[in-house]
Amino acid sequence: EHQEFLCTSKQTTESSALELVDTKATLTPLETHTCCNVAKEHSVPENVNRVLENKVLEVQHGLQFVNISVVESITSTDKTEAGDIVSKTISSHSDLISGVYEGGLKIWECTFDLVKFLEDNCVKFVDKSVLDLGCGAGLLGVVALKGKARTVHFQDYNSTVIDEITLPNVVVNSSMEAAPESPTESSEPDLKKCKKSKTVHGLLPRCRFFSGEWSQFTQLLQSENPPIKYDLILTSETIYNPDYYSALHNTLSKLLNENGLVFLASKVHYFGVGGGVALFEKFVEERKMFKTRTLKVIEEGLQRFIIEMSWQSKC
Ligand code: SAM
Repeated sequence: EHQEFLCTSKQTTESSALELVDTKATLTPLETHTCCNVAKEHSVPENVNRVLENKVLEVQHGLQFVNISVVESITSTDKTEAGDIVSKTISSHSDLISGVYEGGLKIWECTFDLVKFLEDNCVKFVDKSVLDLGCGAGLLGVVALKGKARTVHFQDYNSTVIDEITLPNVVVNSSMEAAPESPTESSEPDLKKCKKSKTVHGLLPRCRFFSGEWSQFTQLLQSENPPIKYDLILTSETIYNPDYYSALHNTLSKLLNENGLVFLASKVHYFGVGGGVALFEKFVEERKMFKTRTLKVIEEGLQRFIIEMSWQSKC
């Protein structure tokens, strides 16, 4: 059932880090990070509706999102300075060609598990500072925004993901939020209404968007004065590769507030890469900073988990 809604996964470059076959959680590392993807903040374009050009929307769980297979297949035309028309597809974006792709172009199954968990358990976002870490489509952050989080920051490894997927998704959910005549509960996405919407995009002023590798991203945020910390960190399908556990753990430990919580959604195991719940929990336990608690186990198909991380008491 999910599959019909999920964006089709495609290998976008030969140097992609992952081979994406979602349902079986088979991930094949094709190369390790040879250099770190430098972190940067993405500015929100002045005319935000432009980010919706050439997009086709889908809806699930009351959330709108761009259909990535359409984004990938539509060839937009750009003029060069010499006036030549050149083709430009999403896979021609420089960070996908020359770098590593970490999987953010599609929506992974555990995102919907965590969305449902947050809704079913009425997790409170009001006035909280929230990070959607390894956000991809950014739907977890959108849920937090709709729950009236004070700020939501989105981070993905790839800048193309932020520009082509995350930002459009926040814009489209923002517009639908601001237009009561087109309820978000509708099963029909309505791009026309959204593009016509003259409203200030209500959710956007509360958002910031970042791309880059986790250690670099953490450094960037820590260089702000005062350094940024979050009440809630939401993260889905980000523990597939044990090589990144150290950077991930460091990011969580630097960026989580004193009383903060991490909600992490993951498949039990990622074949091909070797990461998974047991290995990550062991890694966390050995560092003696956080404790983990299993909040939910989903048994359909390959087991999936919702895990909470909180600080160990400092006694
Ligand atoms: N959370 C999204 C979902 O559930 O649909 C995307 C999951 S995707 C499999 C993994 C995400 O983790 C990527 O989008 C990437 O941004 C992030 N990621 C993985 N390794 C990373 C690293 N070393 N540094 C920064 N981001 C990383």
